[in-house]
This record gives sequence, C-alpha cells and structure tokens, in this order.
Amino acid sequence: MESREENKEEAVGKNFIEQIIEKDLAEGVYDEICTRFPPEPNGYLHIGHAKSILLNYGLAQKYHGKFNMRFDDTNPTKEKVEFVESIKKDIEWLGADWEDRLYFASDYFDQMYEAAIKLIKKGKAFVCDLSAEEIREYRGTLTEPGKESPYRNRSVEENLDLFERMKNGEFEDGSKVLRAKIDMASPNINMRDPVIYRVAHMNHHRTGDKWCIYPMYDFAHPIEDAIEGVTHSICTLEFEDHRPLYDWVVTELEYPHPPKQIEFAKLYLTNVVTGKRYIKKLVEDGIVDGWDDPRLVSIAALRRRGFTPESIKKFVELCGVSKANSSVDYAMLEYCIREDLKMKRPRVMAVLNPLKLVIDNYPEEQIEYLEAPNNMENPELGSRSVPFGKELYIEQEDFMEVPVKKYKRLYPGNEVRLMNAYFVTCTDVEKDENGNVTVVHCTYDPASKGGNSPDGRKVKGTIHWVAAKTAVETECRLYENIVDEEKGVYNKEDGSLNVNPNSLTVVKAYVEPELKKSQAFDSYQFVRNGFFCTDCHDSRPDALVFNRIVSLKSSFKLEKK
Ligand code: ATP
Ligand code: MG
Repeated sequence: MESREENKEEAVGKNFIEQIIEKDLAEGVYDEICTRFPPEPNGYLHIGHAKSILLNYGLAQKYHGKFNMRFDDTNPTKEKVEFVESIKKDIEWLGADWEDRLYFASDYFDQMYEAAIKLIKKGKAFVCDLSAEEIREYRGTLTEPGKESPYRNRSVEENLDLFERMKNGEFEDGSKVLRAKIDMASPNINMRDPVIYRVAHMNHHRTGDKWCIYPMYDFAHPIEDAIEGVTHSICTLEFEDHRPLYDWVVTELEYPHPPKQIEFAKLYLTNVVTGKRYIKKLVEDGIVDGWDDPRLVSIAALRRRGFTPESIKKFVELCGVSKANSSVDYAMLEYCIREDLKMKRPRVMAVLNPLKLVIDNYPEEQIEYLEAPNNMENPELGSRSVPFGKELYIEQEDFMEVPVKKYKRLYPGNEVRLMNAYFVTCTDVEKDENGNVTVVHCTYDPASKGGNSPDGRKVKGTIHWVAAKTAVETECRLYENIVDEEKGVYNKEDGSLNVNPNSLTVVKAYVEPELKKSQAFDSYQFVRNGFFCTDCHDSRPDALVFNRIVSLKSSFKLEKK
C-alpha cells in the first residue's frame, strides 16, 4: 500500500493532485480551476464513484474553482434516462453541488463534428475503409510496430467528402471510420492512428436520430473538457496510457487553455462486488432485491442501509488519493458510519431475540414511565420516557440457566440491572416440554429505581429490555457480506460470484413504542445490538422494518498517521 506519492503526501500534507493544482495556479497556467464528474449514464453509482465525486468537488471547493456535472453520453447503446435521474439524486445526496453547471456531452456533437473536420483539414485525420478486424491486425503489438492503412494518404478533399457522407448516412455501420493520423510506429498503441469516429445507425436518448456517426471516447472526452473550460481532468489509472492521445487532441485542436489529464488509483474494497455485470446478475437472479439492496455498495444501497453522506466523506478522506492501486477493507467503511452516528443518534432499547421475563413482586396492571437519556455521551439529545411493566422481554443471550464462567448477566440467584430501570434477581424459570426456558421469573427492588444502587451494593451486569405490554413488534434485517469471504469473491472455475447463503437474516424484534414515529432513513443505536435504519421501501408505521447498518463491535483499528 505504501507508495512514493503517499509518502510525499505525508511530508507536505497535500496529495499529489493538490500539488499539481497549486503549481498551476502559482505559475498562472490557469486563473481558476474547474473539475468535473463525468459518469456514463449506464448504471448506478457505487462507492468508487463517490470517491471521484467527492475528490473533484472537494478540489473545486478548496481552490474556489468550479465543479461541472457532465453526463458522458456519447455511446447510445448502453445509456438510459433512468440512470441520469438516479445519478443526479446520488450526487446531490453526497452534497456535491454543481449549481447550474449540468452538462451533457451529447450537446457537443456538433462541435465534435467540427473538430473532426478541423483535423481533416490539417491533414491529421483520414477516412479508413479497413474493417474492425483489419484495423486490429494492422495495429501491431507491444513489441512490433503497426502497419499503415492503405487509405492513410487520401487527399483532404476526399476525406472531407467521405466524412460528410458518413454523417449523411450513406454508409453502413462498420464500413468506414475516421482515424487520427498520428504514428503507426509509436510505442504507445493508443497513438497508432486511433479511430475517432464510427458509423452507427443508432437512436440516442437525447439527440434521437440526428446522428449516425458517433465519436470515440478518447476523442470526445478531451473535447468535452476543453469546451467546458475544465482545467484538471481527473480520471482513473487505466487511462494513463491514453494521456498522450488526450494531449494530442487538445493540442491539434488548438484550444487556448488546454485541460490536463491526471490519473489516480481506483478505490477497491476487499471482498466487495462493484462490477455492474455481477450486480445485474444478482438482481436478475433475485438474490438481492434491486440495485439498492442494503447488501450492495451502490450509493443508493448505502443510503438505504443507513450510511450518511458524512460517513462516506470521512471514508473517502481516510482512503486518501494515490497513484498506487490498493484495496480497502469494508470494516473501514463500518468504522466511519459508527463514528458518525455514535454521538448524533438516539440510543434506544430493542430486543432481537426475545425471552419473557416476569417480575413477580411488581403490581399486575401497572405501567410506569421511566426517564432514559437518549444518548449518554451527548446530553443535547435529551431524554425520553420508557414504559416499564411486570412483563418484559430480554435477549435470550442475557439469561443462562447454568452460567458459564465469568457470566455476569441473569441466572438463577443473580442480581442484574435492567438498564434505566431497576435491579432484579432471578428466582425461577418455566420450561416447555423440551426443557427450553420460556419464562424467567424475578423479583425487583423498588428502591433501585433508575438503576441506581440503594445501599451501595453492586451488580455486575446491565441488560436491556422492552416492556411486553407496550412493545412494538418489528422486522429487523441483519446483513452479512453478499459474497462468501472464505471462498473468495469469484469462483475459480467459472468466474461466477461465490454467494454467501446467509447474507440476510430476518428476525422479529420488540422495540420501544418510541420508535413508532420513525420515518424512512431515520437511524438509531439499538443498545448492544448495533445501528439500525428504518427501511425506505418496506417500513410502514404499523409494520416497521429496520436494516442493521453495522454492529457495535469491530476488530478494525484506525492507524494513526
Ligand atoms: P467501470 O469502469 O467500473 O464501469 P464506470 O465506467 O462505471 O466504471 P464511469 O461512469 O465511466 O464509471 O465513470 C465516472 C467516473 O468515476 C470516472 O471519472 C471514473 O474514473 C470514476 N470511477 C469509476 N470507478 C471508480 C473507482 N472504483 N474509484 C474511483 N473512481 C472511479
Ligand atoms: Mg466507463
């Protein structure tokens, strides 16, 4: 994971992209910076995209520049309007504000066409009749130079005429392409007369049937950046070898303040699936319930699970910006949401695996309201009244008929504290025909109200509870990784995913009546059980559903720099 860039970052407190920007501003290369986030609207955004969004937006903020939201919709085959809306929603939610700077690359098709004409006129582009297969053969390899196309030396007039006829729809798909005339002997294969325009009779979701020629990514992208006045075009490492072509395009087209491309390493999460292809299959096979299933890491899924924009920002910051590929543990993301919610959200009592507890010396019909702080560490969240009564639910695991060594919770003869309530001592149990404990009997000490010791005697265990009479039955969804970590993400034989059959456990839980008012996306700490979020699709006031965001414990430790 260590890379030179990261060491440098530590030394000066700035990442390598910030260093480039500061140098450019100091030298007056640009007066003001402009960054962009350029998704292709062909799927939902995931945690990796969040890194790119927050990086680009964050830089624009930091250097008082501009941030553009641009749909890179130059390839009509895979793009859909549905994705445009979901992407906008996700970016807004993350807090990246593009103001009025929303652009569509397809709005520049005319300018891209003009740019191609300019190259033809400069003798820097030619129409080629080789088939895709032939172009591949002529391209050469890493060790051998390519061969020039027999159409390379067509005259400017002939090229202009053919290109116009390509645009007019006179040629079939694949029969002709426009290629940049660069260098078939270049050690960089991307520079061996790359295709910049192709014939494709396709309907585009924004421009309809206006065009039957479409620009290739490596040609279109630098033009989009230049038109918008982008200064630093930040992309991921796999485009490093394309940078000479990016530079060639902006230079040959003679833009006065050409943008520059900067590459950084993608964000990878260990044992986590982000590939569209795999997620699509999980959705189609009904293994997950849509692209926002809380077990996935699309931004919509993280939001539904209960992650906050702040937690994702924190995560991205901790990941840092680097030139070296590495993979981050999901536990770090969990750490970030715990840290974010810990102080902000109320702590309430919910019993996920209930066992009945009866207080024999407590008045039969009485319901009493006890005051409980909402968050012991944050008094600003105030307190609430929690109903208490003769019959309660406690967690199965908080009782043992025969205690193991060091067990501090409830067992016959032992006294514990019911959180925020009273001390109780276990006196007896009831069992079913199989010998399983069904009811635990206790007596309580009325003098211990509030959970305070009346006479200095100590109890070692404190357990949570919910009064049976007022308890609200809810559904809680407990998640594990969708992939089987033991086996690894991908099946070695056929490349399919190793799906974890236990990634979702649904339990019936009892919660305090306080939670009846919870709305979609409201989150809580269920004491001792983790952080939970009200499901935005399935929860209703009379049938609450909670997703466990994360449990409370973790083996993850943040290494201090
Ligand atoms: P993929 O190649 O996985 O299909 P993508 O093509 O879906 O990713 P685009 O819509 O083309 O993504 O990309 C939008 C932006 O997000 C690009 O600038 C890309 O570099 C960036 N991006 C995509 N994946 C990651 C990642 N894992 N980490 C950081 N940035 C990413
Ligand atoms: Mg892409």
